[in-house]
Amino acid sequence: MASVTHPKCGKTFPGGERTGHCGACCETFIGLISFEAHRVGEHGTPDRRCELKPYISHRKEYPHTTLFGHWPDERGFWHFGEKLTDEQKATVFGGRK
Ligand SMILES: [Zn+2]
Ligand SMILES: [Zn+2]
Repeated sequence: MASVTHPKCGKTFPGGERTGHCGACCETFIGLISFEAHRVGEHGTPDRRCELKPYISHRKEYPHTTLFGHWPDERGFWHFGEKLTDEQKATVFGGRK
């Protein structure tokens, strides 16, 4: 998988449709849901901003919910939702061959 470097921050991230690098906060997100979930506020207004929703704090707020929250993987990329098992990670990180 070809990696991409964002000139603004110099961070490198894997290219492809699965990955989104935010031009505003320069965080890297795995999956469209993860990316969309960190953008809050109305589109096209000054209130539109980036906000990570940490998995742990969400867990405290909503102890019965496991489907919310950003969590970083070993590379510092953000995922959203239930944490992956090591097996699932291998599938996701293995890339498409
Ligand atoms: Zn952002
Ligand atoms: Zn960047």
